[in-house]
Amino acid sequence: MNVLLVYAHPEPRSLNGALRDYTVERLRAAGHEVQVSDLYAMNWKAVLDGDDHLDRAADAPFHPVLDSKRAYDSGRQSPDIAAEQDKLRWADAVILQFPLWWFTMPAILKGWVDRVYAYGFGYGVGEHSDVRWGDRYGEGTLAGKRAMLIVTTGGWESHYGPRGVNGPIDDLLFPIQHGVLHYPGFDVLPPYVVYRTSRMDEQRYAAVRDGLGERLDALWTTAPIGFRRQNGGEYEIPALTLKPEIAPDRIGFHAHIV
Ligand code: FAD
Repeated sequence: MNVLLVYAHPEPRSLNGALRDYTVERLRAAGHEVQVSDLYAMNWKAVLDGDDHLDRAADAPFHPVLDSKRAYDSGRQSPDIAAEQDKLRWADAVILQFPLWWFTMPAILKGWVDRVYAYGFGYGVGEHSDVRWGDRYGEGTLAGKRAMLIVTTGGWESHYGPRGVNGPIDDLLFPIQHGVLHYPGFDVLPPYVVYRTSRMDEQRYAAVRDGLGERLDALWTTAPIGFRRQNGGEYEIPALTLKPEIAPDRIGFHAHIV
């Protein structure tokens, strides 16, 4: 199988750097092909702007959605964007690895999403009409592929528990797992989260590494998070609210998980 690891940490000698190296080794040892997009090492351009679209007239107003569509359709995207899209097409599974910074992914990784998920690739796929809102949330360009997050946090596990002060980790990661990964089609596996990173010693690191290894070994067999499919019959059209009989006692993020 082909695995793409999109990695966002500025320091190779960090905990994240060690876990990245281990991930690559473990997957290769199991016979998988691995590509790494090491965003800091690539000096990845994090901001989406008019320079991403090669044929745009310099004096024309920049329209992030329409210019993205035109450049994608005409094959005139910036080459760094097209290269990442090719890696995503190649991959059977995609891992996003990052330290939690201000309760979400580092800006450089958000910028990778903003730029690589072009109109026609990450969104704007399939029929858009009064009766259909495209192929998304379980359908789309990346359907049939698996995705997983590897995340490290300074906060303790209890801080991210159901009543923890930071909010539940599943809620904090929902916009990434549901919005960024399930939206263009991925089946999303439960995340591998390493909490309280400041309390890391050799013994704990060994346990963290082994736990990660087990998750990587099970990349093809772990049950995905049960995000509902937009076009699976559970949502009202065109409002896209859950039908009254679906999870009637639930609201918010968790209503969208079977
Ligand atoms: P490092 O600092 O590199 O390492 C952590 C520990 O692991 C160190 O003690 C190190 O010695 C040890 N270690 C490293 N490599 C090894 C190895 N190979 N073997 C054994 N031990 C090793 N945290 C939150 O919970 N929520 C937030 O919203 C949040 N926001 C942040 C925002 C910013 C801008 C920053 C800078 C930090 C934030 N943090 C937050 C904390 C952040 O999530 C952690 O600092 C980060 O996850 C730690 O990962 P690291 O790879 O940088 O670890």
